[in-house]
Amino acid sequence: MSDYSESHGLGHEEQQQPESTELAPDLIVCVDCGGICHLLTRPYVEQDGSQGFRPGDIVAYRCEDCLDRWDIELE
Ligand SMILES: [Zn+2]
Repeated sequence: MSDYSESHGLGHEEQQQPESTELAPDLIVCVDCGGICHLLTRPYVEQDGSQGFRPGDIVAYRCEDCLDRWDIELE
C-alpha cells in the first residue's frame, strides 16, 4: 500500500478540466453600477452529457440594475 501512495504523490494527475462555474459564473458584479449581472448564455452540452464553457467562448451577462449587457470572452 505504501508503495502505491508514494508513486501516486507526484501531483501529476491532479490537473483536471477547470470547472465550468469558474469560467462563467452565474452571477458577476456589474463593473458599471455594482449591480448583479445574470448569465444569459447557456452552456453547451457535450455528447457525453457534461456541460460547460470552453476558453474563448463569448458569454453574455445582463445587469439587473442598469440593464447593460456585458459580453465576456472566457480565458
Ligand atoms: Zn449595472
